[in-house]
Amino acid sequence: MGRKVKKEAKETRETTKKRTTRKETTKAKQQAQEKQEKKVDVSIVIPIYNEEENLPILYEKLKEVLDKLGKEYEIIFVNDGSTDKSWEIIKEFAEKDPRVVGVNFRKNFGQTAAMSAGFETAKGEIIITMDGDLQNDPEDIPQLLKVLEEQGYDIVSGWRKDRKDDFLSRTLPSKIANWLISKVTGVHLHDYGCSLKAYRSEVAKNLDFYGEMHRFLPALSKSIGAKITEIVVKHHPRRFGKSKYGISRTFKVLLDLILVKFLLDYRTKPLRILGGWGAVLLGIGLVILLYLIGLKLFTGADIGNRPLLIFGVLFVLSGIQLISTGIVAELITRTYYEAQGKRPYIIKEIIRDQNLKVVNRGLVGQEKDS
Ligand code: UDP
Ligand code: MG
Repeated sequence: MGRKVKKEAKETRETTKKRTTRKETTKAKQQAQEKQEKKVDVSIVIPIYNEEENLPILYEKLKEVLDKLGKEYEIIFVNDGSTDKSWEIIKEFAEKDPRVVGVNFRKNFGQTAAMSAGFETAKGEIIITMDGDLQNDPEDIPQLLKVLEEQGYDIVSGWRKDRKDDFLSRTLPSKIANWLISKVTGVHLHDYGCSLKAYRSEVAKNLDFYGEMHRFLPALSKSIGAKITEIVVKHHPRRFGKSKYGISRTFKVLLDLILVKFLLDYRTKPLRILGGWGAVLLGIGLVILLYLIGLKLFTGADIGNRPLLIFGVLFVLSGIQLISTGIVAELITRTYYEAQGKRPYIIKEIIRDQNLKVVNRGLVGQEKDS
């Protein structure tokens, strides 16, 4: 008997213990979750490709500047397939400092991909991008934030007015490229190439970009109605490691510019430009051919060896080709938006009189997608 009572007592003790441990684990989990979901004000996104010497200095400088801000922040280092010790160093930071987030790529996917991954990971209401090579100065961050927050901009871009790079191979081509990009896109910035930029998170997260498009983000963001400005920032020469780009970048930038122009103006209506030019060519071609047919019919002249015939045929063919490409592009555009549940517009906000709820019901679907 006595033994049974003892056993029961032991069992009860054990269950209570289990229950308390379970309670404790749930509590711990909750706390961990709360900690995880803690509001972040500013996310710093830094692509890293072989920057082992720069990382420790950059991290210390960043901490020094960010701690003074009085804001919750996180520093996201995206390791873009570095072959040096960069990832080990980032891991060390993250182990010691919960505000450091490390994202490790399987291979080198490029600075644009690294930025994109950083944007996706970022929890902050404001995202700041910068280079990991100490050429950008963390001390400019407070000013970027100030202009963004106080003057209501969606993007504040850095302008390396006094650029510390080789003049012939970097600064001059970049000056020409900036002038051209500004002219073509209508977003006038002195320095598209400067990585130091601040974005409102909803703007950054709504941009999708591929290839080497990161420098065009301000221009692309025009298509979602972002308000953009620039401020002068400091620039330092590279002290450690090597630059990852050469002069060939300028040509790639020019090709990208054509795509950006198309995306800005015709992304949702490709047939307008392709079909438009197609119709013009087709029209000219038809006029030429009709003229030649008329000649043949009424004067009996030999038209087989006339260069004009080649032009006529070429124009008609290219016209038809452009129009059909335009139609295919229209179909692709629809697939693009519908497959991703996207809309070709972005709603900033919806206000609605409570009493008018029923009348406005049509908007509900849009609200969900905004
Ligand atoms: N970077 C990267 N992946 C690459 C090339 C560069 O993540 O494939 C990073 C690099 O580590 C640096 C930033 O992008 O933090 C800018 O690169 P870099 O300084 O070489 O460019 P530059 O200042 O010469 O234009
Ligand atoms: Mg650099």
